[in-house]
Amino acid sequence: MLRKLYFIDSSCDEKVGGNFDRIVRECMRLSDLICRKITNPNDTDFARVYNVIFKTPKTDKQPFPHSNFYIQQNGPHCRRERMTSLQHVLRVHLDFAHKWERTYCRERADVRIYCDNGRRWKMTRKKTTFVDPVNHMMMVGDWAALVRGHGFTVVSTTKAPKGENPNRCTIDICDAAWDNSAFPDYPRTLSELSQMTLPWRKILNLSKLCNIDDLGNHLITRVVFHEFMHCSYYLLDDPPEGRPSAGWAAVMAQKKGKAAATAESHAYFALFAGLSEIRPTNQPCGGYGMGRRWDRIRGSTDHYVSFPGDDGGTKKWDIKHGWNKAVRGEISFYHDITNA
Ligand SMILES: [Zn+2]
Repeated sequence: MLRKLYFIDSSCDEKVGGNFDRIVRECMRLSDLICRKITNPNDTDFARVYNVIFKTPKTDKQPFPHSNFYIQQNGPHCRRERMTSLQHVLRVHLDFAHKWERTYCRERADVRIYCDNGRRWKMTRKKTTFVDPVNHMMMVGDWAALVRGHGFTVVSTTKAPKGENPNRCTIDICDAAWDNSAFPDYPRTLSELSQMTLPWRKILNLSKLCNIDDLGNHLITRVVFHEFMHCSYYLLDDPPEGRPSAGWAAVMAQKKGKAAATAESHAYFALFAGLSEIRPTNQPCGGYGMGRRWDRIRGSTDHYVSFPGDDGGTKKWDIKHGWNKAVRGEISFYHDITNA
């Protein structure tokens, strides 16, 4: 079987102070977990997560086009090629879970991952255009804004020199993603979290609750997962200008259809999949899940196609909506989490 190849630059191992590949492999394992959980009819806790993130129940049959990025790269596709939200989700995660392999040959790699804070990129005379002379890539952007973010992915648009993979793309994880100086003890991956004692065990215990952003903001797994979702095989979007661009607020601001085309939505979906397998060390079974109080809202499994303030959108999707803690990304430990 033809494999998709990823290459990890030495700057990544240096940054992580060890083996960066374990983060990439954690991402792929999360995609596999998504596929297994989402296709299990008995996994009602994860079906709720799906409903809240993708703004529709799993059973919805409405077809949607691919992402804007996909259309920009491949041209418009016909109605026949539209898929339901669930099909979009499975397309991405079945592939990401099983079709990739690490290579040490940069030139052959489809995806090349760097943690050099974008140092390879050189500004051209046109100050908004940058080139990566190592990978023969070009991009247009606001440099200050790019490195302020956690990471960015560039898909090749220029002709490949001989020996270079024409389908290449680069992922840059920026220093901003690693800066947890205020929280030096926080986990950077879900497997680190699962082995942690304090302070996370204190926060993630039976009596206390926390929000998904408390975790997501610190996890390099989330950043790598998000960036992979932009690569040339998936081409998922970032939220449009003017809407929250990252974090749980960005996830909740996506409507039905658009949510399945959004990189950050998939990254948070993956975190919830992984959390369902994590439990405090003193617990024999169970895992963390999205607050079940979501189900107490009238019409909790409705589709979300309009925003609050639009034509009759409901407050249940509004992240600021006070009493509904599930919408704020509350996670809770459940002894009886489904499909654990
Ligand atoms: Zn992005």
